[in-house]
Amino acid sequence: MKQNFDKDYVLNTVERILNVESPTGYTKDVVEVLKKYIDELGYSHSRDQKGNLMVTIEGHDESYVRGVSAHVDTLGLMVRSISSEGHLNFTVLGGPILNTYDGEYCTVITRDQKRYRGTVLSKSPSSHVYEDATSRKRDANNMYIRLDENIKNREDVITLGINHGDIIAIDPKVEINPSGFIKSRFLDDKISVALVLGVLKYFKDNTLKPKYTTKVLFSTYEEVGHGMAHLPSDVKELLSIDMGSMGLDLACTEYDVSICAKDSSGPYDYDMVSTLIKIAQTNNLNHAVDIYPMYGSDTSAALRGGNDIKGALIGPGVHASHGMERTHIDGVLSTMSLLSDYLLEEEL
Ligand SMILES: [Zn+2]
Repeated sequence: MKQNFDKDYVLNTVERILNVESPTGYTKDVVEVLKKYIDELGYSHSRDQKGNLMVTIEGHDESYVRGVSAHVDTLGLMVRSISSEGHLNFTVLGGPILNTYDGEYCTVITRDQKRYRGTVLSKSPSSHVYEDATSRKRDANNMYIRLDENIKNREDVITLGINHGDIIAIDPKVEINPSGFIKSRFLDDKISVALVLGVLKYFKDNTLKPKYTTKVLFSTYEEVGHGMAHLPSDVKELLSIDMGSMGLDLACTEYDVSICAKDSSGPYDYDMVSTLIKIAQTNNLNHAVDIYPMYGSDTSAALRGGNDIKGALIGPGVHASHGMERTHIDGVLSTMSLLSDYLLEEEL
């Protein structure tokens, strides 16, 4: 079925939430913004103890409950220690490609909500001085944060209120291009959060009800593996919407919705994957079925957490994941179509 999705709503939403810092472990600001979006759509929401946000959509059939997840946490850094000259050593939050962080601007968020700007740099940052400026490894031991404050030593940094354990958020550098490309850090998985909201808006605008009662779960610890490890007990199946992998022998492009048959956590539910492929084929959606060599999703976390569910994973193709990511509006719209048709269970 051809749906009249509100493309501008999705693009405006993704731009807004990409610009709210949410490294895994510090998601409360973006969750507050999400709550406003859900309030505007007129759905009710609740939070569990670890901060996941849940929206319940009443279905025609309330005897069976489906879950749909997308994660709102991103990669980031955390202050590990402060050197005698006032440089910040860091530890990673999630698995960023640190080579791509070299030279990036960032914000240090202190426990009392002060924000300081800085730059991620190699510890051999100048080619006029360091012989190994280009060859030095870009990892957490060989990089640091240069703060844009008048500091000469460790004590000056402490005086600013910065301490070990403070969050460091990398600038996302959002660009929405007239050619349809959306490029930014952290499209994994904020593009999916935005497209899920876009599908909810489509339901609202067209007074559509999903076939089954659906719990939409915005998870907050996916990047460290345990995101949706605990599901509401009535959820019987979980469809995670997360970025589609691209590269090597994978078929997915940025114009496609990717249907994952298997990732590092093993194969996804045979029947769910088959149904998703059939919906994509029947509706002529740009799609690819792929195996992700190094990947785990909120569905993987839910299965490992011991939930008795069927699970699957789909998402728009995202290029250069965990680096400078990019996708295309066509892949986003294909993902919305597949999600919407799956929830409405249109006649095949
Ligand atoms: Zn992800």
